Amino acid sequence: MTEISDRPGQLAPRYARVALDLPMAQLGAAWFDYRLPPEQTAIGPGSWVVVPWGRGRRIGLVLELAERSELGPDRIRPIDAPLADAPPAPADWLRLVRFAADYYHRGAGEVALPAVPKLLRTPPSARARGSVFERARRRFDTVATASGADTSGSDIPSTGEASASGPVFSGTTREPSPAQREALAALSSDTGFSVSLLHGVTGSGKTEVYLQWLASFLARDETAQVLLLVPEIALTPQLAGQLASRFPGERVAVLHSDLADGDRAAHWLAAVEGRARVVVGTRLAVLAPLPRLAAIVVDEEHDPSYKQQEGVRYSARDLAIVAASQRGIPIVLGSATPSLESWLSARRERYRLLRLPDRIGGAALPTPQTLDLRGKTLRHDLAPAAIEAIGEALARAEQALVFINRRGYSPVLGCLQCGWLSRCQDCSAYRVMHRIGPARTAAANRYRLVCHHCGGEQGVPRSCPDCGDIDLQAIGRGTQRLEEGLAELFPGARIGRLDRDVASRRGAARRLLDSAHAGELDILVGTQMLAKGHDFRRLSLVVAVDCDGGLFAADYRAPERLFATLMQVAGRAGRDARASRVLLQTRFPEHPLFAYLARHDYDGFADWQLAERQQAGLPPWRHQALLRAEAATQADALAFLAAARDRGQALLDADPAFDSQVRPAVLDPVPMTMSRLAGRERAQLLVESAARPPLHRLLDLWLPGLREIAGNVHWALDVDPAEI
Ligand code: ADP
Ligand code: ZN
Ligand code: ZN
Repeated sequence: MTEISDRPGQLAPRYARVALDLPMAQLGAAWFDYRLPPEQTAIGPGSWVVVPWGRGRRIGLVLELAERSELGPDRIRPIDAPLADAPPAPADWLRLVRFAADYYHRGAGEVALPAVPKLLRTPPSARARGSVFERARRRFDTVATASGADTSGSDIPSTGEASASGPVFSGTTREPSPAQREALAALSSDTGFSVSLLHGVTGSGKTEVYLQWLASFLARDETAQVLLLVPEIALTPQLAGQLASRFPGERVAVLHSDLADGDRAAHWLAAVEGRARVVVGTRLAVLAPLPRLAAIVVDEEHDPSYKQQEGVRYSARDLAIVAASQRGIPIVLGSATPSLESWLSARRERYRLLRLPDRIGGAALPTPQTLDLRGKTLRHDLAPAAIEAIGEALARAEQALVFINRRGYSPVLGCLQCGWLSRCQDCSAYRVMHRIGPARTAAANRYRLVCHHCGGEQGVPRSCPDCGDIDLQAIGRGTQRLEEGLAELFPGARIGRLDRDVASRRGAARRLLDSAHAGELDILVGTQMLAKGHDFRRLSLVVAVDCDGGLFAADYRAPERLFATLMQVAGRAGRDARASRVLLQTRFPEHPLFAYLARHDYDGFADWQLAERQQAGLPPWRHQALLRAEAATQADALAFLAAARDRGQALLDADPAFDSQVRPAVLDPVPMTMSRLAGRERAQLLVESAARPPLHRLLDLWLPGLREIAGNVHWALDVDPAEI
């Protein structure tokens, strides 16, 4: 602490506070101090540096320079070197990173480093130093000059010729409808930060509004950048085409996690260096440093995929709003079924609500009908009326979409004699049947039992492990089994399936969607993935096989998700104004959710859910943080959480600053629904608060002490958890 400068009165910074991608809460630090190399005047806040760590090297981000360090001079190691050729992180972005680190109670390096493509944050060997950036730049330029060329695997034609002269609009811009005109007029009145919620059903012209609005920023300022966040890029090929044709003179950078390393680095660098003015990406794109960002759109803002589910569990939608506010720029959130968080903000007039009430072209939305499953004999999980409707659609040479909210073959294998079930040995989950071999082979060779939670797998037993009976049956349903069932019911039909399994094969989702669009498929079977952003012109029937899982679930968000998914899936039908049908199979047809759905009454549904949540003291009325713990035994995990709860309670009792009316509550620890995961036991503890500031104040005081009591328990905090 008593560092004495060589030149008294003229303290020059000698140290750098460096953020590394390490679990900072567990290490009990916010950054690491390093000594500046003597001749390095270029290193400053935002510099990327190579630093020694243990016996190896790491890439770090300089947060700030300091004159002093609390570490003794002999304990401080020097920075190796700046990361050659790396563009420094802009100040705006550092501010966002530091906000996210504070808000999610993580280290800045845990936020910043994973946001950088792997290729660019690997410590270079002395020989290759710097060249990785040059290669990435050349790669993007090569793609950029080959007009319309595909950026290998990204599904997105990258750019046209770069010119930033002339209007960016292409001839494909449509004359806005009156509702679109009104929305655009309201948006064009913005100067500075504002949040607008654009609410309109699928096909109401939201995308057209986004594109025209974003184009106005590009036209106004030849260096401006715009950011469009989408939930899932590989599944929205139309958007790629639209962007390429709408911004013909622009370089479009595409950021998502399925890109090959080289492409990801190339696109990221083009965005960060301002060479790409249009940036489209999934949640990780919100953490790309965009120096000239002028406007942001978050499409399908309610989509759960905006919440990161590992590492720093950030919400890309929420961070996008923070980024807009920090920079003083406008942001548009779009959805047919806004999240209740956004809806409440609109109700409170914190967000401007803009509506597109009708579908373009006046095509009616189909009216979803429930199919009561009670007392019906199902064939392959389909009610007779559903089978009949599929048959009719096929007879008219139209397409049918059969939608199911699960993946894999039937979830569980069971013994009809003794009730044995294919439980996972390592988890509290069940292992489910996955088809691996062709239909001809014997069942035991055709399937494997796989745990979706820990990935554990095994062959299918030929007889019951408990009683020896050979009558083992698949219980429950899945997309594969449904596909097989449909093939049996409609032998001539061309059937295609889309779920996580299929989509995990590069290009497979795209191929399936292409053949669906080309009319080469009669029946599409799949999960929510089919519901996203596709426009199937020949589709006239949607059957939702299993709606009930979302009605009565442990997670209070399940009905909100079900409503959103069913609205979305219903929006797939009838785009060309044919008479379309949406059939919802359920054993609870009188549930209020279906009545709102049948009237397309999002407002009514949302207000009803908000009232229920208010009564129950749940978000968005209250705020939550979840402390998750993982240990060898459930007792260890629970004991840690109980000790954590006691500490939290003691902090609340001891500190008069916690106003008694908005004081957070620390609840009791509970084992998680999926309590056993990959051989580890998991439990969780909820902290709730009517207001955010006291919640974060408590977390700030509470988390540092958890280090001392954690022992061998792994823990992590989830602020605003999306799943309970
Ligand atoms: P959303 O994003 O709300 O689902 P889109 O913007 O994709 O809706 O519009 C639905 C369809 O209507 C698209 O095929 C789009 O090209 C077309 N469209 C949108 N706006 C107009 C317009 N003003 N005039 C003509 N067609 C339009
Ligand atoms: Zn048995
Ligand atoms: Zn398992």
